[in-house]
Amino acid sequence: MRDDLRALEGYHSPQVHVRVRLNTNESPFPPPPAWRDAFAAELSRVEWHRYPDRAATALREGIAEQHGVRPDQVFAANGSNEVLQTLLLAYAGPGRTVATFEPTYQLHGHIARLTGATVAEGERADDFTLDLDEVRRVMSASRPTVTFLCSPNNPTGLVEPESNIRTVLSLVQEQGESLLVVDEAYGQFADWSAMGLVHDDIPMVVSRTFSKTWSMAGSRLGYLVGPSWLVDDLDKVVLPYHLDVAKQIAGRLALTFVHEMEDRVKVIVAERERLSAAMTAMPIDVFPSGANFILFRTRTLAGKHVWQGLLDRSVLIRDCSGWPRLEGCLRVTIGTPAENDEFLTSLSEVLA
Ligand code: PMP
Repeated sequence: MRDDLRALEGYHSPQVHVRVRLNTNESPFPPPPAWRDAFAAELSRVEWHRYPDRAATALREGIAEQHGVRPDQVFAANGSNEVLQTLLLAYAGPGRTVATFEPTYQLHGHIARLTGATVAEGERADDFTLDLDEVRRVMSASRPTVTFLCSPNNPTGLVEPESNIRTVLSLVQEQGESLLVVDEAYGQFADWSAMGLVHDDIPMVVSRTFSKTWSMAGSRLGYLVGPSWLVDDLDKVVLPYHLDVAKQIAGRLALTFVHEMEDRVKVIVAERERLSAAMTAMPIDVFPSGANFILFRTRTLAGKHVWQGLLDRSVLIRDCSGWPRLEGCLRVTIGTPAENDEFLTSLSEVLA
């Protein structure tokens, strides 16, 4: 292994067998049965001996239509993780710096390091909001070629206000030779999105995924919307035929079920608000969330103890309590109403 990678830790989430699995921010609902049928029907007609459409034309057109942009402003890959990896292969790498504001999604820094880049980790305020003075400090000290924001942020759930995105964007523009990446893996669950700011003349991309809202974590499909020159660059970097034929069909068909997806988002958002209200009445600190998960901090018991107590009741959530800056913090994914009830009951038992 490369010397610079030896000390890196992998990215893991234990997948133990439990009744209620609320640890990886997936959708609790399977895709609509009509999607399954349409997918099976198209699969039966695939010419398996041929390579897939290298440009994923129909899929890109569908995504572009969804966001009111042109297909040449869309880049799709195997999960938004691969979107970010391709982007960092193109714009990070040895001798360059990538800025993150911690705590945030661990893969931003992790993938950046895999490309050989240096990661400049900025701090957030104690309540996990973005500190714009800190952003200015990090950017002028390290002149990053890529700056990450994540809205709603994982694992905190906080939505970045539009004014913050605009301020960071103007700092990126002032610096020049620099790009702002807004990771909106949970964008549909929030009341605001940066997608509307995307423009060919603006050095900003917004990434999204089919893994959450679209109930397709099993398919591994994500994309970004950004300037067409950037999409051209990424097309040169990504492996040929990286999106297999089945995935292109799966994604394209999913886009024809927008209303079903919007209904699911509404259910999850309503459940999030119900859970958040119930948890606020417990002896824990609950962070405001615009995502399909909620971060909370235990007050009376150790985070690890609460996590284990839930696991003993067959409820699995994410233990973030050992992560830097997240002492005592646990993250629960919003599940079905029945799963959420089980979680609430178990949590109040453990905290009692
Ligand atoms: N970004 C964020 C903020 C995430 O939380 C996740 C999923 N954990 C991803 C990107 C990656 O999602 P996927 O690769 O499934 O599209």
